[in-house]
Amino acid sequence: MPIDATLPYDDTNIFARILRGEIPSTRVYEDQWAVAFHDIAPQAATHILVIPRGAYVSWDDFSANAPAEEIAGFVRAVGHVAREQGLVADGYRLLANTGGHGGQEVPHLHVHLFGGAPLGPMLA
Ligand code: 5GP
Repeated sequence: MPIDATLPYDDTNIFARILRGEIPSTRVYEDQWAVAFHDIAPQAATHILVIPRGAYVSWDDFSANAPAEEIAGFVRAVGHVAREQGLVADGYRLLANTGGHGGQEVPHLHVHLFGGAPLGPMLA
């Protein structure tokens, strides 16, 4: 069920629990700003989720409210993960589902990183 991205942050969401180490994930990268781990139901040869450590519901919340340093750190982390995964030469796709029409299910901002094989046309 897609979330209402205008609701306040709920720190019981599944990615908050992954950040706190309360439930397992397969981490591939972490730094001061971001944590990256494999999606539990991959939709591409490589499907990684990159999330900020900060408590942001959505891309909208993050882009409006995060300090510039945190935004820069997160964006750099996403790019770093793509490079570290060897995805740059053949290319990759980033996706941040936001709110109801975006189909966002988990109310903690996450960027999907897809790659590892041709992805076909953009999903609508
Ligand atoms: P959304 O639809 O919110 O953009 O995507 C949420 C993503 O989180 C989905 O691709 C789903 O497979 C993934 N996901 C949901 N629960 C878990 C979990 O417990 N662990 C991991 N690693 N991924 C999850």
